[in-house]
Formats: sequence, structure tokens, C-alpha cells
Amino acid sequence: MDRELTLLCSTCGQGIVQDDGYLWVSRHEANTVQQAYKAFEERNTDPADGSLAFDLTDISALPAPAVWQADHSECDPERDKDSHYRIPAARLRLRADLLDWSAHLAEKPWLPHTDWRDVMRETRTGSTRIAISGPRPPAYPAAF
Ligand SMILES: [Zn+2]
Repeated sequence: MDRELTLLCSTCGQGIVQDDGYLWVSRHEANTVQQAYKAFEERNTDPADGSLAFDLTDISALPAPAVWQADHSECDPERDKDSHYRIPAARLRLRADLLDWSAHLAEKPWLPHTDWRDVMRETRTGSTRIAISGPRPPAYPAAF
């Protein structure tokens, strides 16, 4: 079956076309971001009424989401880290594969603290980590 999505290695910049790599994120980093948000909420929630009030300094100090990266197995300098969550390139060929992964990952409490939403959006436009092929769906502005 033709491939719609080709992961691009963050280390060497080449496509991961022989299924010899993966898309990965550091669960440790995502958990650290999650804990920072939890501490932020606890620090800024009024115990009397549960309302959230904070100043811009506090919210701007929150960490950025953990970033999903693609790498060839041989290029990944941290390939032995058990704390990395990896999606094999062989199981991420089509946009429908990404939907399946999104459904699977939705149960992970750390997922919102990664840039997975950006990964999903990049299946429309391509990016430095995902090359797309085949028909491109039209772009529609996000609805609010
Ligand atoms: Zn590489």
C-alpha cells in the first residue's frame, strides 16, 4: 500500500522509508510538563470556590509541551531510553494510522502535554518531521 506519511529523521534529515525508525516522545518530559500544570492549578485555585486566578508571570513560566520527534533507530542518540514512547514507522503510513494512534493515545494522561495536536495538523501540510504524499485535503480554518 502506498504511504501517505513519511517520517523525517530529526538527526540526519532523511526519510524513514525502510521502516527502520519511529516517531517518539519522552514520557519523562511529558510527565514533567503534566506535573508543572498540576502544580500551577493547585497553586492558583481558590479553595473556597474552585475558581482559577493567576498572573501572567506564573502562566508564562509553564513549560512547553514535550515534542514528538522522528528518528531512524540508528540515528536516535537516546535509542536505549525506556522512558521514550515510540510509534514504529511501519505502523504510521497513512492518515488513518494516525487516527488509530490518536484513539489509542487519548487514554494517556500525558498526551495533552505533548505537541501531538501539531503532529495531527501536519498530516495536512507536511512539516520537518512528516512528509506527506498523495492528495492533500483542502485546508479549512479551525472552528471555535
Ligand atoms: Zn536518520
